[in-house]
Parts: sequence; structure tokens; C-alpha cells
Amino acid sequence: MGVDSSDWRRQGQERFLTGVTLARSVYTPWRRGWDHDHCEFCYRKFAVEGGDFNVGYHTLDRYHWVCDECFSDFSSEFKWKVSPQKYPPEV
Ligand SMILES: [Zn+2]
Repeated sequence: MGVDSSDWRRQGQERFLTGVTLARSVYTPWRRGWDHDHCEFCYRKFAVEGGDFNVGYHTLDRYHWVCDECFSDFSSEFKWKVSPQKYPPEV
């Protein structure tokens, strides 16, 4: 298993996503005033409303987002750990 080394989604994400812990949550903007983010791999859109996804995997600071499909494709290679903890939006 694994993703081809020439897969178009590869853009150097190993620099900041290798071995990190991710959690899966409903999308919330990284900071006030933002309304969407993109999957770090396929660039599809996470948004509170109207995006491709409203749930996905993210770094614990919620800065980087990865969709379910890319998570399953790249998780073994990037050695992601998944936090059992929920990270609900703290409003
Ligand atoms: Zn993706």
C-alpha cells in the first residue's frame, strides 16, 4: 500500500506533517475572520458552510487540515498519530 511518489498531491508536506498528531473534528476556522481552509494534499475546501468538507483531520492547533481520503492515503507514510481527544470549537 501507499501512494505513488509522483502523486500530484505531494508538495513537500513531509516538512511540517511528518509524525504529527492529528485529531478529527468539525471544521472551525483557525482564527476569527477566516471562513475556510484547504486540505493540505488535495486542496479541496473545508468550510463551515458550502465547502467540500465540514469534518476532517487537523493538527492540534487546527492550522493544517487533511481530508478523510488523503488521511487514509498518507497516514501510514507520514506516521500520523490520532488523538482520541475531541477538539470542539471553543467559542
Ligand atoms: Zn485531501
